[in-house]
Order: sequence, then C-alpha cells, then structure tokens
Amino acid sequence: MIAYVSTRGGEPPRRFQEVLLAGTAADGGLYVPGAWPRWSEAEFAALAGLDYAETAARVIFPFLADSFTLEELRALCREAYAGFNHAAVAPLVQLDADTFLLELFHGPTLAFKDFALQLLGRLFERALARHDHKLAIVGATSGDTGSAAIHALAGRARITVAILHPHGRVSPIQRRQMTTVAAPNVLNIAIRGSFDDCQRLVKALFADAALRAELPLAAVNSINWARIVAQAAYYVWAAVRLGALARPAVFAVPTGNFGDVYAGHVARRMGLPLRTLVVATNENDILARFFATGTYRPARVVATDTPSMDIQLASNFERLLFELADGDGARVRGWMQALAEEGAFEVPAAVRARACALFRAGRADRAETRATIARVHRESGVVVDPHTAVGIAVGRRLRLAGEGPLVCLATAHPAKFPEVVEAVLGQRPQLPPAWADLAQREERFLVLDADLAAVREAVRRHAREVLG
Ligand SMILES: *Cc1c(COP(=O)(O)O)cnc(C)c1O
Repeated sequence: MIAYVSTRGGEPPRRFQEVLLAGTAADGGLYVPGAWPRWSEAEFAALAGLDYAETAARVIFPFLADSFTLEELRALCREAYAGFNHAAVAPLVQLDADTFLLELFHGPTLAFKDFALQLLGRLFERALARHDHKLAIVGATSGDTGSAAIHALAGRARITVAILHPHGRVSPIQRRQMTTVAAPNVLNIAIRGSFDDCQRLVKALFADAALRAELPLAAVNSINWARIVAQAAYYVWAAVRLGALARPAVFAVPTGNFGDVYAGHVARRMGLPLRTLVVATNENDILARFFATGTYRPARVVATDTPSMDIQLASNFERLLFELADGDGARVRGWMQALAEEGAFEVPAAVRARACALFRAGRADRAETRATIARVHRESGVVVDPHTAVGIAVGRRLRLAGEGPLVCLATAHPAKFPEVVEAVLGQRPQLPPAWADLAQREERFLVLDADLAAVREAVRRHAREVLG
C-alpha cells in the first residue's frame, strides 16, 4: 500500500482517501507518494490490446488500493470514459514518420482536464457516500478547469460546485460550456472584475473560519493528487499502443501548472520506459528559465494565444522539488520561504543537473506557435489548437536525431480557441456535433460585484439549499 506524505514534511502519512478529499496538506505542502509502485516491463506489455478504461484502472489502482477495490475503480473508469466522443478515448494521430499527436480533447469539455475530472467526480461521490460526508466545491476559472469541473460534478450526490469566472472575460465557448449546465448543484457566478479578483475571492472564502465551520469547502485545482495520477494513465496507454516500450518515446507537453507533464514523470517512476519529457511553455516561461539557470523567479503574467498556460507559479513543481531534495521537506520549506519573502529561490548546480536529466524545457512565442499551426496543417492536413502547437514546436526543437518517436500531447480541441486558428489558417474550426447547438442553449449565471460578502452569501445559500 502507498502512504502519502506532504512535500513540506510536516504531516503524518495519509491514506489515499484522505488525500483525495483534503486536496492540499495542512502544512501548506502537496501530497506525494512516500514510495512509488514499481512495475516490470512485462507488466506494462501485458496492457497491450486493453481498451482505455481498463488500462487506466490498472495503472491507477496501485495508487489508491488502500481506499478502493480494483472492481470499484474499473466501474468508475468505465463510466468516466464512456462519455468521451471517440471510440479510442485518447487516439494517436500520426503527423509524420516519427511524430504523433495524442489527442486528449474528446471528453465532454474538449480539453485534457476531462481525463482527470471525470474520474475525480466519481471518486469523490463514492468516497463521500461511505461516510455520508458532503463537499461544497468552490473554484475560480479563466476557462478550461471550471467547465471540466462543472461537467464532472453536475448532478453528483452530496456535492455542490460554485465556479467564479470574470464577467465578459472568458471566451463565449468557455462561458457557455459552464453556464448551460442546468443541474441544481451547479452555481456559476460571473464577477465584475478580473480573473485575479475571482481567485482572491475564492481564497478569502477558504480563509473564512465561520464559513468553513458551516460548509465542507473543498477545491478541485490541479494540486489534487488524484488528478495527477489519473493523467499518468494516458502516458502508459500511448507508450503501449506505439510499441514504445522497446523504443522509448519523447513526450512533449504544453505546460502551465506542471501538472500534466508531472503525470508523465509519475508513469516513469512506475517504471514506464520513456526517453524524456519536454516541458513546453509560452512567453510565461518561468519553468524554461528554471531548467536553464537553476533560479525560480516568477515574472508578471503576460496574456498570450494560450491562456490556459498563462501561469507564473507552477504549483505542481513543488512535487518535483521534493524529489530533487531527496524527500527533505525542510529544504522544500526553505525554498518556498525564499520565494515568498525574496521573490525567488535558487537550487545548487547538482540539483539543477538532476532536474535536467529528467526533463528538457523550452518556450515558443506567439510567432512560433502560429507558424507551427500553419506548418502542421500544410504538412499533415491536421488542425491543432495553439496550446498543442506550443508543445509540437518545442518538442520538435528539443528531440535529438535518432531518438525514439515524438509524442505531442494535444490538450485542447482547436474549436475551443477558434480565433487564433482562424487568424492563421483562414478557416474557423467547427465544434464537434455534440456541441453544435451550444450557442442556442439557455445560460444560467449570477452576476455579482467583486464583493466578498455578496459572493459568500450566494455560495452559502446555494450550498445550503442543495446539501441541506
Ligand atoms: C490546463 C491546460 C494546459 C496546462 O496544463 P498544466 O497541467 O497546468 O501544465 C495546457 N493546455 C490546455 C488546453 C489546458 O487546458
């Protein structure tokens, strides 16, 4: 059985179920496994021919075996991935002789976040039912996470979900994917303000002791360990399908919070053979700068063509730092303290060298991203979204001659970011048939000022109505 520990070293070992429901550790750290489950190459090879849901259940099971049976997990995975709009769930599409796209956008909200959240919603529901516990999920979104969370949690027993988005500042497609979900346990609040205002309000709600005494508040951001482990499954799936156990692949991953690419590292720690993981950033390149210099220094966030990667504090990076510190939570605490007090921290050269042995990192700016959308379309006839294009650009640049296949993670459907694609290709990508009537569906949301008392009252009233 795997026990979970905090990256800041201040907590006793926890079971999976506690980690699932808590989200972050009380000492401010993130949960990581105290030891890795290890598979032999034969165990990976035995996955050949299995479908996606069965592959996912087998890969994820060792991480939560203290809290769920394999039968339970298998049933939840089957349900979670049955709603995907492609028979393969995560198809591999060939771009050229040795480059593949792993399409992760066939879920209900057309971005890879559905892979984790569709399963997370079901794990929550199952865990809560055992003890008759309840959860009031509150989150802020600038786009993809909010819609994936709403679609994963709508209609689930013992759970309410309230998502704040900046009024008039998310794309119409992203807004409608959230606001047209009619389930009574879903509350959308449009805040007259910025995404930062939304985040500030959510933080203030979590810091409100009176509210927390009344409501079982919880979060669904990507620091929840269950999200990471759900994503590790598609790295294994892709490697097995490509025959890349014998010829390890380079995976290129468009990165914001370091969650998705870290999930690839989890698969590697289980024993999956892979050549390397490429961390691809946009102009918000804090991670690329860290791998180049050993200094982690957030800059101002700039708006780019890839809004889901416009992040300067990559929360999941702390999980890698814990490993680079050989599991010394005090050392991680020191780095985080320097970050908070001095605005940066620096790791010794030997630590940076170990990080660089595990990952390669680079950035693509707007011009390179757009040129990549054009080139992929010209050469392969495939339309990719801007986030995916960042990964392809950096992956192609950093893969060395003679290395194994390059697998680029396609994290969003191109119709989710139609403006950039249309500007480059002169054609507007069409939404899949399931979303064709999105513009006609009825929307429901509250519009509130960025005022804590008003938001608190709306969240409180909604949760009390639904949870009793
Ligand atoms: C969230 C997101 C990313 C970044 O993923 P991280 O896990 O935060 O690194 C990349 N592309 C798309 C489309 C996303 O929604």
